[in-house]
Amino acid sequence: MAEKFDSVVVGAGPAGIAAAYTMAKAGLSVLVLEKGEKPGAKNMFGGVIFRHHTEKLVPEFWKTAPVERHVVEYQYWFLSKESHVLLSHRNQKFNGQYNAFTVHRAKFDPWFAKLAEDAGALIINRTTVDGVLKENGKIVGVITERGDVLADVVIAADGVNSMLSKEAGLREETPEDAAVLAVKEVIALPRQKIEERFNLGPDEGTAALLVGFAPGMHAGFMYTNRDTISIGIGVGIRDLANSKKRPNDLFEEFKAHPSLAPLIRDGELKEYSAHLIPEGGYNLVSNVCTDGMLVAGDAAMLVNAINWEGTNLAMTSGTLAGETVIEAKKRGDFSSAGLSRYRQRLEDSFVLKDLKKYKDVPKFFAANPHFFTLYPDTMNELLYMWHVVDDELKADRINRMKAALFKRRSRLGLLQDAYHMWRLFS
Ligand SMILES: Cc1cc2nc3c(=O)[nH]c(=O)nc-3n(C[C@H](O)[C@H](O)[C@H](O)COP(=O)(O)OP(=O)(O)OC[C@H]3O[C@@H](n4cnc5c(N)ncnc54)[C@H](O)[C@@H]3O)c2cc1C
Repeated sequence: MAEKFDSVVVGAGPAGIAAAYTMAKAGLSVLVLEKGEKPGAKNMFGGVIFRHHTEKLVPEFWKTAPVERHVVEYQYWFLSKESHVLLSHRNQKFNGQYNAFTVHRAKFDPWFAKLAEDAGALIINRTTVDGVLKENGKIVGVITERGDVLADVVIAADGVNSMLSKEAGLREETPEDAAVLAVKEVIALPRQKIEERFNLGPDEGTAALLVGFAPGMHAGFMYTNRDTISIGIGVGIRDLANSKKRPNDLFEEFKAHPSLAPLIRDGELKEYSAHLIPEGGYNLVSNVCTDGMLVAGDAAMLVNAINWEGTNLAMTSGTLAGETVIEAKKRGDFSSAGLSRYRQRLEDSFVLKDLKKYKDVPKFFAANPHFFTLYPDTMNELLYMWHVVDDELKADRINRMKAALFKRRSRLGLLQDAYHMWRLFS
């Protein structure tokens, strides 16, 4: 490989493929290098892809893409050791106007990559990029085990650990309190059983977020696929160290929870995987451009952990990176100044606007873990007290509930928490 391309994209995830597809459609010569044996082979997520942003690239993609189910119900579980409080939103509108689809990345990513290939991009799998090639301080290509490849612009879409952007000096290692380790299992069950257990019609799906239960567990997730359930937990790296537990032990406890175990009972384990999620938010978004290189997706820390969105930020940032390269090609300027419109494009889009809105949230929750433990537990305790029927007078019951609440969190603490939530989200 000594050929020169208009652009080399490193990583065939949603960010890399969106960039490659955008540039190839405009007639640029594009090479995508992917270390996995095929796109998606090394990737894991919850998860769902979102209609709105995927459709901007491929109208009515669900008619050809390997999607599992469209989500009609969003569930929020607040767990304590032996109980749960469930807040759920199901809406028939999601049957007419699809919002999100559960997918398996091992199937979705190859389908997505084929689009870029059909548009003219060359995708080479099983090729790890080992570093960037520099000439007079400017990035002019990449180094691979098979040889060097030259390009006017390298797009680093190499995911959460982005060795390329670190090497280019665009970002540091993800700090411990901004990294969440997720472990996930895919559990097979007959289609009908899934539909019965989750009260779903054919092709309808559920997306569930779960908090509480185990100190150190950031959140759990559960998604219904056609004939499998994706279930997992995310654990803050720092919390994990403090809890002295192994993520797998936490995960086993989670799956054995009396409210969850019946949902996956008799299922057959199909897949186990683990992956990091960069949850630093706006304040930790990396520098996204330098001479000859742009960074997109998780590599630039573009993940909205509050709304559980990542693929749409990856696809959008990849598209914007691709558009920036197309423009730079017309001007023949691949310098940092020539490529700097990319940052502005991100700032003008929902990608950085949304992250900016939540910029103080990650730090706040990292410093206030009781939101994930004390509140779910208290909700469960208070609702239990409320429902028990015995000889106690209701006035006494309510006084006991108030005492239980204030014992857990003082009036001032409750007011402060409400105030902070208001400030963070309003
Ligand atoms: C547990 C979990 C649940 C999630 N749930 C959701 C969800 O439900 N919905 C959602 O929208 N997002 C979700 N996300 C986030 C989402 O998965 C990511 O934001 C998204 O995949 C980022 O896309 P990307 O293309 O930037 O990176 P990736 O998808 O990570 O792709 C990077 C690619 O680069 C390749 N690569 C890396 N290094 C090299 C190298 N040196 N040389 C060659 N190739 C390389 C990798 O093999 C990989 O294919 C979840 C993430 C996790 C971990």
